[in-house]
Amino acid sequence: MIDAHIHLDWYQPAEREQLINRLEVNGMIAVSNHLKSCKEVWQLAQQYPFVYPAFGWHPEQPLPSDQEIDQILQLIEEKHQEIIAIGEVGLPYYTQREDPSLDPTAYRIILERFVQSAKQYDLPIVLHAVYQDAVIACDLLEDYQIQRAHFHWFKGDQQTINRLIDNQYMISITPDCWYEKEIQALIKRYPLELIMAETDGPWPFEGPFQDQMTHPNMIIEVIKKIAALKQLPAEEVQRQVTNNTIEFYRIHEKNKQKWSE
Ligand SMILES: [Zn+2]
Repeated sequence: MIDAHIHLDWYQPAEREQLINRLEVNGMIAVSNHLKSCKEVWQLAQQYPFVYPAFGWHPEQPLPSDQEIDQILQLIEEKHQEIIAIGEVGLPYYTQREDPSLDPTAYRIILERFVQSAKQYDLPIVLHAVYQDAVIACDLLEDYQIQRAHFHWFKGDQQTINRLIDNQYMISITPDCWYEKEIQALIKRYPLELIMAETDGPWPFEGPFQDQMTHPNMIIEVIKKIAALKQLPAEEVQRQVTNNTIEFYRIHEKNKQKWSE
């Protein structure tokens, strides 16, 4: 099993040690938030063979300098054969809701640069784009004919859900599937072949996960819930979801590269 989306660099060192010591899953896609985060994630991937690094700039923060984005794109260029994806990138849905005066165009321009980079290096792209932002992201992906797109923790209306399915874009489900009706409906609607499981750790969860440090092992519970909602055996869902993640991120190929170094 593979946690399809985690911010491993955001854990305190002691927490991270605990996380790794208790690990029951086989791997994790570690996304980055900004330039410093890319460098930390890269270090973690060198240290732990089960950490697959993705480089990007998270949209839910104040705008960066042009130089910072240039440097991240430069890092992607240098390491494009070793990184697993470009991410986390996207659009600032939650920040914009807090601050309606925010200029979305600048964020869109940044996202487009990462989309271009994903196209250039044939890397999957990990998107933070929910509700109406998912529509804008879809427009961009279609413009550049991007096939390997992963909308992590996706939320959106029926029309957008249908559009994602038509485009064969992947989504990933977090532990909130245990208590969010909207996510439960999405799981029922979305084809299992396009679903992965993630934690977005260290982001904390509620319900049965209240007051627990978010751990990649929580995807075991995510898979159980997906199986229950889809009325399928848990083992079958586990096999399919794991396979989806391995195929989408071409993990075997990346492992070979890691071993041959
Ligand atoms: Zn994230």
